[in-house]
Amino acid sequence: MSETPQTLRARAEIDLGALRANVRALRARVAPHAQVMGVVKADAYGHGAVPCARAALAAGATWLGTATPHEALALRAAGVEGRILCWLWTPGDPWREGVEAGLDMSVSGMWALREVVAAARGAGRTARVQLKADTGLGRNGCQPADWPELVGEALKAQADGAVRVTGLWSHFACADEPGHPSIAAQLESFREMLAYAEEAGVEPEVRHIANSPATLTLPDAHFDLVRPGIAMYGVSPSPGIGTPADFGLRPVMRLSGSLALVKQAPAGHGVSYGHHYITPRPTTLGLVPLGYADGVPRHASGRGPVLVGDKVRTVAGRVAMDQFVVDLDGDTVPPGAEAVLFGPGDDGEPTAEDWARAADTIAYEIVTRIGSRVPRVYRNVDSEADSEAEWRTGLGSRPAGTPGTVGTDGDRENR
Ligand SMILES: *Cc1c(COP(=O)(O)O)cnc(C)c1O
Repeated sequence: MSETPQTLRARAEIDLGALRANVRALRARVAPHAQVMGVVKADAYGHGAVPCARAALAAGATWLGTATPHEALALRAAGVEGRILCWLWTPGDPWREGVEAGLDMSVSGMWALREVVAAARGAGRTARVQLKADTGLGRNGCQPADWPELVGEALKAQADGAVRVTGLWSHFACADEPGHPSIAAQLESFREMLAYAEEAGVEPEVRHIANSPATLTLPDAHFDLVRPGIAMYGVSPSPGIGTPADFGLRPVMRLSGSLALVKQAPAGHGVSYGHHYITPRPTTLGLVPLGYADGVPRHASGRGPVLVGDKVRTVAGRVAMDQFVVDLDGDTVPPGAEAVLFGPGDDGEPTAEDWARAADTIAYEIVTRIGSRVPRVYRNVDSEADSEAEWRTGLGSRPAGTPGTVGTDGDRENR
């Protein structure tokens, strides 16, 4: 790959071509009438919210989803248009800005309905509201017992012109365990809560409950719209339901660093904090300049896999804040050589799922926690489709060596 000062140490390459293909693969899985919402919360699971949002829309997603209103407003500030649903509100949040930005705002309880109605009246505009049902997740959403009051009050606010109820929706607890009894129970509860609201007079544009695993495995849950997050980034929601390739998906993120030092070490040499690794023989050690501050899990100390020079090595000893060591087993590798932590797997590199196993977590956490110190380098930017690609400009003003996003038209050949 062509390096810039920011990307010399490490980089997370983001293949927007893969993201677009993943969105198309997901669209092909749902009925023609069903829409796809690209979930881009948490900076698009670490992949960069604005470029991923644009790529998702270019590939046919018609909605975007975020957790917080601030994430949704940041997309609007970057010029992203179209429907955006945001669902994690706290009292005092910027409802008024949300109304003015034309967001679809999720409401799970009476306090939220009161705040959105007040904001709509203040703005002199109708707020778009989606009522969220707790059909069994036991997290956000309105309990069945409280649903009649919420639906009734929302309909009154709609009659007054303060809100328009654009959607009715819910979220699964165990969709990544196909056949789990809670899935059928949640679907039944969702159908009942939908029927109640529709009989009361709600005419939703969209009814939706499916996250990635339900999009991939449960057509009965697709309704009018599906909300894939992790699948859009080419990562399987759970190894139990299949690999990304089983669903025609390709990992979007490839994380690598450049060896900062390669040196000989004698047998019996302790490596990194706590000396949890002792060289078993005279060997070469390679220093990878990525650490837990960059999102490399400290839990993967002694276990995380890294491709260096055609062989997968294992993290030797502790992952530190900024760096960790791999035992190169006597191989001669030049400083600056690439150490690939994870990627699509094409060249034998580990995957985010491999790191999840090594760190005893899920691949969602691996990609999402890659820190802001790691520059994102966008590959296969389709300048026609993802127009106004402002992440490709403005680099001249960013001092060399500071984190940021870098765009190139480089493709896989010149990695
Ligand atoms: C995160 C999230 C999604 C996407 O979940 P994935 O498993 O990544 O597809 C969908 N809906 C809601 C409410 C979410 O919080």
